[in-house]
Amino acid sequence: MHFISTRNNAPAATLSQAIAAGLAPDGGLYVPQQMPPARDLQAGASLAETAATLLQPFFANDALEAGLPRICTEAFDFPAPLRALATRNDHVLELFHGPTAAFKDFGARFLAASLSRLRAGQEQPLTIVVATSGDTGAAVAAAFHDQPNLQVVVLYPDGRVSPRQAHQLGCLGGNIRALRVAGSFDDCQGMAKQALNDAELQAQVPLSSANSISLGRLLPQMSYYAHAALTHRAAHGTSLNFVIPTGNLGNAMAAIMARALGVPLGRIVLATNANRVLPDYFAGGDYRPKASLATLANAMDVGAPSNFERLRWLYAGDDAALRAAFVSRAVDDATIRDTIATRHRRFGEVFCPHTATAVHVLEQLRASGEAAADEHWAVAATAHPAKFESVVEPLIGREVPVPPALAELLERPAHAEPCAPEYAVLREKLG
Ligand SMILES: *Cc1c(COP(=O)(O)O)cnc(C)c1O
Repeated sequence: MHFISTRNNAPAATLSQAIAAGLAPDGGLYVPQQMPPARDLQAGASLAETAATLLQPFFANDALEAGLPRICTEAFDFPAPLRALATRNDHVLELFHGPTAAFKDFGARFLAASLSRLRAGQEQPLTIVVATSGDTGAAVAAAFHDQPNLQVVVLYPDGRVSPRQAHQLGCLGGNIRALRVAGSFDDCQGMAKQALNDAELQAQVPLSSANSISLGRLLPQMSYYAHAALTHRAAHGTSLNFVIPTGNLGNAMAAIMARALGVPLGRIVLATNANRVLPDYFAGGDYRPKASLATLANAMDVGAPSNFERLRWLYAGDDAALRAAFVSRAVDDATIRDTIATRHRRFGEVFCPHTATAVHVLEQLRASGEAAADEHWAVAATAHPAKFESVVEPLIGREVPVPPALAELLERPAHAEPCAPEYAVLREKLG
């Protein structure tokens, strides 16, 4: 299988090349040359087995092909359980049982397992430069920690990530360096981009990225949707529909691709926070990226969803067909708060602010009849509520117990290097 760019102006790449490169050289996103129909998927298989079966055609004839089953067992070594909610035929797919308690652990761990194999035997380590507003950097840092031949430099805006997020970035040490930048997330991202475009630096220090457009993160995320859909259909004889909390469209794009491969998923609805670029587009407006607004669901504070280009590619640029295929709704902060408080008061359920956007959209679909009473729906729970305790705990009036993997990270001492918001300073540190 080869991979082409959404902009059609780059040579076809092997999977290994596409994973190592991140972005295609023409600035586009890598997409598979064909969409191989899902075959041999079995309802009783484990998550790692489902991943290996589903991803095999994408790995065919690649240097990573023989390693795929092991990559899957390394990346998918924690569960993604589907649990029933109190409201009838509603479920939650818990994607937060990994080391940093967010769904990004799956993709980051798969990428790390892939890159560590691609770098085996190379003299110089590969340095992953990642700018983060919180969750991405934590997942990448945890996934790459102690991986031979790989190191990570994480840039985050000092004072603008939660104390727990900052701690997760700074507590690993070893091959992970955390830089707390005296600036904004955009400053961090600008510095990381400059490093990745600095040919002179790259000649001395091999660099790569790990952002949400990376194929090495996108492809494995199809697996938990396939696993949940097959398990659910075997148990209930009906396909599962999804509401997915969405920012850069990485997680949702994986569900959409899985369905396009023939995985038995029903409808896919996109929930956003007050950043309404996608809801406005799906309601018939032009696609207009905007500056992002800060919200309680901060990992979804995205004004230019980076995977949108892939979604348009999948629908061959046909906006009418794309709009007909999806519903997208925005949820404001007041409603996020109300959803968290109300679901806890009525049912004892606790959600993170991101998951709460999707829970609210599902409630709307049920109330309006757009989701019929006998249809089975699930919300993708993208993070554990303990990660966002400063939002959640005041609303529910109690502490949220911290899951053991996260507690273990929070117990380590943390250290981050101060860094001025200037590329020259970063370059000095990398060179
Ligand atoms: C990253 C993230 C999202 C958004 O995922 P995308 O792939 O960017 O759409 C939602 N919730 C949480 C908790 C996240 O960390």
